[in-house]
Amino acid sequence: MLPRHDLFCETTLSGLPSRKRRWDDEGNLFFREVARPKLVQRYFDDAAAIDIHNHIRQDGLALEKAWGTHEWEHRVYASVLGIIETNVYLIFNNFFRAEHDQVSHTWFTTNLVFALTKNDVNNLQENEPPPHEHIPHMREHILEALSKSDDRKRVQHKCIVCSRVHKKQQKASYFCKTCGLRCVLCFPQTGRNCFTYHITNEIPA
Ligand SMILES: [Zn+2]
Ligand SMILES: [Zn+2]
Repeated sequence: MLPRHDLFCETTLSGLPSRKRRWDDEGNLFFREVARPKLVQRYFDDAAAIDIHNHIRQDGLALEKAWGTHEWEHRVYASVLGIIETNVYLIFNNFFRAEHDQVSHTWFTTNLVFALTKNDVNNLQENEPPPHEHIPHMREHILEALSKSDDRKRVQHKCIVCSRVHKKQQKASYFCKTCGLRCVLCFPQTGRNCFTYHITNEIPA
């Protein structure tokens, strides 16, 4: 599924409240609902798309790594070009499913370069159908608040990346919906990059 990069337009009317996990004096779990505008709800529902997009951009063409710029304008240009290339790759795979198989980012970038640089119009690579690479459909990791899946029992909420990779006990209130409830992760807003780590390395052993 294509991460939602559509324009961020929302209202300040009230949205679904966020549900905070709290414990009373006897140690019983309860949820406190905190009102929030629709705009804030939408932001927290979709914020993970940014990390997924960054990951594709930096893992594929990675222009900022490949091109050692000496002028700041070039650096900005490299990032914007990388963002555009990533968008086009996602569109190619997701909007034309009826016409071709899913292709890898490497295949796409290579053929894009050929198509843009070859002057021989009769010999454009783009006229060739994409190969049958049979790559698995890109798994989209989606962060969701633990409080959304209220199963009425205490779930462990130690971040799996903090505990297994950084050997730290860090409480986190989000998990990856794709990988399941055991995949508890720090929210990117905390400044810890556990979610980005998860996208790149799946679940650490
Ligand atoms: Zn995941
Ligand atoms: Zn963490």
